[in-house]
Amino acid sequence: MSHMQIGPIEILFGENGSRAPYSTSLLLKGREADAMIDCGGGQRVFDYVKRERNIADIILTHYHLDHRWGAGLFPDANIWINPLDAAKLADQAELFRAAGYYAMFDHKQAERIWDEEQRYEAQKLAKDREADSKAYLQQPPVTADRTYPYDQEVEIVGTRAVMLHTPGHVEGFCCPYFPDYGVMLVGDFDLSSFGPWYFGADSHIDSFVASARRTLEVDAATYVTSHHKGVVSRVEYRKGLEVYLAIIDRREEQIRQAVRRGVSPEQMVYQSLLFRQEHVQNIPLLTFYEKLGIAKHLERLLAHGEPFHDYYQCFLRAHAMRAEFLAYSGRAVDYTGHG
Ligand SMILES: [Zn+2]
Repeated sequence: MSHMQIGPIEILFGENGSRAPYSTSLLLKGREADAMIDCGGGQRVFDYVKRERNIADIILTHYHLDHRWGAGLFPDANIWINPLDAAKLADQAELFRAAGYYAMFDHKQAERIWDEEQRYEAQKLAKDREADSKAYLQQPPVTADRTYPYDQEVEIVGTRAVMLHTPGHVEGFCCPYFPDYGVMLVGDFDLSSFGPWYFGADSHIDSFVASARRTLEVDAATYVTSHHKGVVSRVEYRKGLEVYLAIIDRREEQIRQAVRRGVSPEQMVYQSLLFRQEHVQNIPLLTFYEKLGIAKHLERLLAHGEPFHDYYQCFLRAHAMRAEFLAYSGRAVDYTGHG
């Protein structure tokens, strides 16, 4: 387990280079109690935190499982999440709607794909860490006790922070920024070579790009990604982000060319446009994400004036996708008054 300290902020890397479903957490040291931001480092990380810290608050950047699968192991901590994602912890149907499952599945099928997703993720945990698979597959349900506001100064165990609203990966996503230390957790702007992940109904590609640029508008010197890269300087982050965002244009150009070449809507999902073809063929979960991602790109091409209306309709028909469930916008809830 490795970590790094900047002021009261301890950056705690997850197992396996924080490759999903592991993720990096921040620990904030307070006078009486401590706080943790995101909780997906793995059992050894959870044990370390339990042993060495007194965690009063766990603050989640968004609802995705790889950022919260250890949170249920801290039953005494208050769980905080952003106002848009709180409902997805409280209500599984809301989570399925946000994830886009209902674009292709009914509720029963969605439950199956949800189980499959957890088993698939659990397989990617470090091979020699059985405790992690167990913790991942048997995680107690986590609901939010509190919500934090976006874009306002808050105090987390005595440290000033702003939870910058950066929708796109999911609509509720945010990046915690610590102005006194110039540190920002940019989470799933992870600079990975795979590229940006925006394959949920609550994802939005243009928002993803705009939000990524927003992370450079504040005066941070140190950027921390949840996966892969880890801790990078502002200069490295700026450069890495350009390369990372360019992957979106490359994917889209490939889709545009495939449509122009006359690739059928059925065959479109087997062109290694997002995920590798053999994975799309063998892993139903990835077939689903490939379809959803291509539909999102086709919508974006349409919005940008490309004449792909008929192709888009054929694509949806060919894959029995319901357009009304491809986009999602949740209601914000406010638990700040409570307690
Ligand atoms: Zn995520």
